[in-house]
Amino acid sequence: MHRLPGFFFVFFVTFVSVVFPVTAGAQGKKVYISVDLEGISGVNGDDQTSAGGAEYGRARKLMAEDSNAAIRGAFAGGATDVLVNDSHGGQRNLLPEDLDPRARLISHSFKRYGMMEGLDETFDAIVFVGYHAKADSPRGLFAHTGSGVVRDLEVNGRSVGEGGMNAALAAWYGVPVVAVSGDDTAVEEVKGVVPGIRGIVVKRAINVRAVELRPLGEARRDIEAGVKEAVQGAKKSAPQRGGSYQVRMQFRNFTIPEVASAFSEMTQVAPDTLQFSRPTMPEAYRLIRVLYRFINTD
Ligand SMILES: [Zn+2]
Repeated sequence: MHRLPGFFFVFFVTFVSVVFPVTAGAQGKKVYISVDLEGISGVNGDDQTSAGGAEYGRARKLMAEDSNAAIRGAFAGGATDVLVNDSHGGQRNLLPEDLDPRARLISHSFKRYGMMEGLDETFDAIVFVGYHAKADSPRGLFAHTGSGVVRDLEVNGRSVGEGGMNAALAAWYGVPVVAVSGDDTAVEEVKGVVPGIRGIVVKRAINVRAVELRPLGEARRDIEAGVKEAVQGAKKSAPQRGGSYQVRMQFRNFTIPEVASAFSEMTQVAPDTLQFSRPTMPEAYRLIRVLYRFINTD
């Protein structure tokens, strides 16, 4: 084969890379943002967290402001597509007219994957906004897991809150969770299950009801800057899909375990505790959600 002199080869490669820049990655990043309400900056009372509460209208505006800070950060960090998933309660808190017009919005709680609806392996980064600590955290503001009925949730032997459960689904798809905002207890908890994640503390929990709020402008600036850097540095990993997923759920009542024991795959290991396994994390996630949300015990 006819060989080119080395210097010509180097020149040729340099010329090609300058004139025809590598297009991989030039497409921009696809960013997924899951937004809960309890850990939003400025949110400080339970008359704000459900529709019909006296201050609910204010809270949904505050929720939109933190979401917009995260959306701005995502675009500044290289996103060209941002999907926001309303992840609190009835999941119709965010008003589209309040949201940064560049973002898409998933609304309503009748979803298979709840706080992670719409996520798949095509995303490059995930951001959790407004998250709270898991059930029975002694100090976390509005601490709970999924709904008020869960005392503890374990996935593969590890006790997790909503952040940990959602991170397990993210890992299944190989999409990194790069930033979380919330009170200090929520941020600390998620950092414990997602190594390397950027935490943005927007308020300090004094106990499950009292809180010290950071100035709103400052908190939102931190969300924007933190999400920007986190999205810039996001690196996808191989999907984690080993073995089956063992789930153990302890409830605050005996009714749900009693009803759910009708399903043959459920083992009622104690009057208040169910255990089951699923071959994939998406399947486990769906079933966890059915158990805490869709069994009517009235
Ligand atoms: Zn929540």
